[in-house]
Amino acid sequence: MCARVSFIVAFVCFALISPSINAQSVETADVVVVGAGSAGVPAAIQAARTGAKTFLIESGSQLGGNATSGGVNFPGLFHAWGKQVIAGIGWEWVEKTVAVSGGAMPDFAVPTGRQHWKHQIRVNIPVYILIGEELCTNSGVCLRYYESPVSVEKVQNGGDANWKLTTSAMGEIRTIFCKQLVDCTGNGSLAVLAGAERMREEATQPGTFNYVIKHEIDLKTIDRKQIEEAYQQALRDGTLEQGDSRGGIISFLADSSTNYVYGADNSTAAKRTETNLRGRKAALRMLRFIQTLPGGESATIESMSAEVGVRETWRVLGEYVITRDDYVEGRKWEDSLAYAFYPIDLHENVAGVHPKHLEEGVVATIPMRALLVKNVPNLLAAGRCISSDRLANSALRVQATCMASGQAAGAIAGLAATQDVEPKDLDLEEIKETLRKADAIVP
Ligand SMILES: Cc1cc2nc3c(=O)[nH]c(=O)nc-3n(C[C@H](O)[C@H](O)[C@H](O)COP(=O)(O)OP(=O)(O)OC[C@H]3O[C@@H](n4cnc5c(N)ncnc54)[C@H](O)[C@@H]3O)c2cc1C
Repeated sequence: MCARVSFIVAFVCFALISPSINAQSVETADVVVVGAGSAGVPAAIQAARTGAKTFLIESGSQLGGNATSGGVNFPGLFHAWGKQVIAGIGWEWVEKTVAVSGGAMPDFAVPTGRQHWKHQIRVNIPVYILIGEELCTNSGVCLRYYESPVSVEKVQNGGDANWKLTTSAMGEIRTIFCKQLVDCTGNGSLAVLAGAERMREEATQPGTFNYVIKHEIDLKTIDRKQIEEAYQQALRDGTLEQGDSRGGIISFLADSSTNYVYGADNSTAAKRTETNLRGRKAALRMLRFIQTLPGGESATIESMSAEVGVRETWRVLGEYVITRDDYVEGRKWEDSLAYAFYPIDLHENVAGVHPKHLEEGVVATIPMRALLVKNVPNLLAAGRCISSDRLANSALRVQATCMASGQAAGAIAGLAATQDVEPKDLDLEEIKETLRKADAIVP
């Protein structure tokens, strides 16, 4: 259990008369991280390891975000050009998961060429969640599921707190007075409540729903032409929709996750619900279609992720916006706190994805200014919603990079809270030293 100073104002008498009055609790923290995905978990652990009293708030029921609930259990990339460039808390999480679940690491000494995914690490989803929770608990992070912020106010002359954060915590309204906030929601949905500006393009990348249809169709012996024709006919008569399979029916039969959910967005409850309903309807359409094929009669859905994986929504405007040119040129600044390595990887609705690989030897970096939210002191944003242009973000959004940016944001927030200063006034060398001590690789 988290050690906490809290008091419940239950208004018992009122509640007896008026059941609509909610229980309310008031708490204090040094750092509050919102969003417990690839970025939020390392952010909270790192903040707590600096000695800051840290809350990690998550609207769902488990850690990992897209990596677990979205079924994208392939964190990468930790290695570039023959050496490790990202380590620290994210690496600890992955390494422990692989060790406990009897998995295997790829051979990082073997170059991947254009097949960059070969250096991604497959993690067992249940064990990954359990190890993440263990790491949080052992670091003293106070973890709260089923909770979301509803308002963020600056505390004027507040003494011990810079922020008053109000959350909808299932069954109660919670107020948390804290010094530093870290947005790891993937969407900047905490930052926008605090008055930050966000960026997004009109068109966003499609999402993907990870599920597995089990069937008895023998891909070696089937009449591919006949199945392709049946598939095209189903698209024409509306039984299936574009995107239900993104590489044609044959690739779908080999791997159900080759689908696109166009316009996928999880930045509000309404959009997240709609996106998930659309992904699930597509799965049902495909199941029914496959059951009409020879060998598919007894097909069923063997497994299904809790949510549609979402690639792109909002990015938070930071004190610096990492551009595509910064990224592909591997620009390094005095305040670079982490490396980032992945091709530019923009999925387009019609064209699909054609990764653009970095030139030999190039490794991008993340400056501290990209984690500081523009014109909003004491607020940081890391992970997929990091301050970056669209093309840079298509690479920065991958999990190892989110872990590295999250850990850096956690170090900044933790140090700022324990020293009672604004992040911009911290000693840069101290931040780097804190990260190195936590086994992070600092450029
Ligand atoms: C289909 C697909 C394939 C991908 N393939 C790979 C791959 O192979 N390897 C790789 O490394 N990366 C891959 N990625 C990218 C990567 O998975 C994500 O970009 C990354 O996981 C983002 O991490 P994050 O922590 O920023 O956000 P998320 O993982 O989205 O976590 C955000 C968390 O915040 C919570 N949250 C959101 N809003 C609120 C709120 N208001 N209150 C409380 N909690 C909130 C969410 O529930 C979630 O748990 C892929 C992405 C997709 C969609």
